[in-house]
Amino acid sequence: MSTIQDKMFHELKSKEIFKQASDYAHQYLSEVFNRNVYPLTPDLEKLSVFDEQLPHESKLAEDVLKQLNDYGSPATTATLGARYFGFVTGSVVPVGLAAKNLATYWDQVSALNVLSPIASKLETVVEQWLVDLFELPEDTAAGFVSGTSTANLCGLAAARYRILQRNNWDINKKGLRNAPRIRVVTGAHAHSTVLKAIGILGLGHDNIEWVDVDDQGRIKVEDIPSLDENTILILQAGNVNSGAFDDFEHICRKARKSNAWIHIDGAFGLWAGAVEKLRHLTQGMKLATSWAVDGHKTLNTPYDCGITLCADKEALTAALHMSGSYIIESKERDGMFFTPEMSRRARIIELWAIMKYLGKKGIDEMVYGFHLRARQFASAISKVDGFIVENDVVFNQVIVRCENDDLTERVLFRIQEMRECWLGGSEWFGNKIMRVSICSWATTADDITSSVNSFKKAYQIESTVH
Ligand SMILES: *Cc1c(COP(=O)(O)O)cnc(C)c1O
Repeated sequence: MSTIQDKMFHELKSKEIFKQASDYAHQYLSEVFNRNVYPLTPDLEKLSVFDEQLPHESKLAEDVLKQLNDYGSPATTATLGARYFGFVTGSVVPVGLAAKNLATYWDQVSALNVLSPIASKLETVVEQWLVDLFELPEDTAAGFVSGTSTANLCGLAAARYRILQRNNWDINKKGLRNAPRIRVVTGAHAHSTVLKAIGILGLGHDNIEWVDVDDQGRIKVEDIPSLDENTILILQAGNVNSGAFDDFEHICRKARKSNAWIHIDGAFGLWAGAVEKLRHLTQGMKLATSWAVDGHKTLNTPYDCGITLCADKEALTAALHMSGSYIIESKERDGMFFTPEMSRRARIIELWAIMKYLGKKGIDEMVYGFHLRARQFASAISKVDGFIVENDVVFNQVIVRCENDDLTERVLFRIQEMRECWLGGSEWFGNKIMRVSICSWATTADDITSSVNSFKKAYQIESTVH
């Protein structure tokens, strides 16, 4: 009787299942750019085939893959494609997909240099590339994490460490009980992941000193309270609805005089700093202390990929430090000292491949393309009866609404139902809105035109039926 080990050796040697998976993958790639953006209802219903007990006996690998492909693939959202405008969801630069594919076979852990010399090398190289590209202070350290949620957490953990350390309080040893108070100042439109990090770190939502924002969601500079060295000031590069940027130059110059820690949540917006014609948006961002940015949004890396950047390297590594008798530290980079996780997949591989492939010029051209498409969308939709554009389109986000909340919600639902494109809703100063985020390298002018037509059709249906 063959054991499970025999079975696995057989699969490895015959390579059949790897060919099967890559055939499926290539088929997927040839369809996903043109198919319905959201899964069709019958395909969603068929997901019930996965409602089964854990099998008792080992199954055939080819059957496992077949089930996954037959029922899983049609139930994916086509975020890889050109007409997915939901959240702020990037596609994938093809070379990144290919590099990730290769790296999947390598299965590297980027905790320590001895665990993966290649991952350690690429993290070192890309850290420097990012510092150069964003023109950040020379010693800025990067940690490669799963997304901006974690990158925000890391930046704020570093801030907490440093502020308390200046007060002769070692947070790692003493904890928060009876610790000196840390002030937190942020705008009324701070992203919910910033609030999550504040909660996790024990800084307390009730402790936040909220600053009012203008009609684009930017912090009102004159409303910022007086700051001090025990304050964390959290700014934003790219409002999640409007795409607006805080006035970094002005705010940071003022804040630095007080020695406050400045953190910028730049999940998708920080990349404006890499685009010649958009760089004015991030002017002064280098005056901050820490930054959070995603690869998987604007840069179109595969999921998941986020980066925490910190000018105070010692605070970052002290905040995230761990040790153990079996840890083998290297003279080269040990990635785990810059991230909350120990074991971590080597997502740096795709990030490196995409940055190397695009180069500065390619990044500039791709990201500026999102801006041009967003402006095209805003200009076209504002000429269609029934739609109002609510924001200044400074980057890649467009806020659209109809005459009233009820119609906005029904039209949005209808657009989603038609599946020509996909986007989500939100609220903006008390109104229901539709959020359009242009974040895919594949989006063309024609995709914008067909999406605008879909909006038009949805409005015609909803405004006459009721
Ligand atoms: C998306 C986003 C986040 C969260 O990033 P994840 O990569 O999803 O964890 C935080 N802030 C802003 C402004 C965002 O757009």
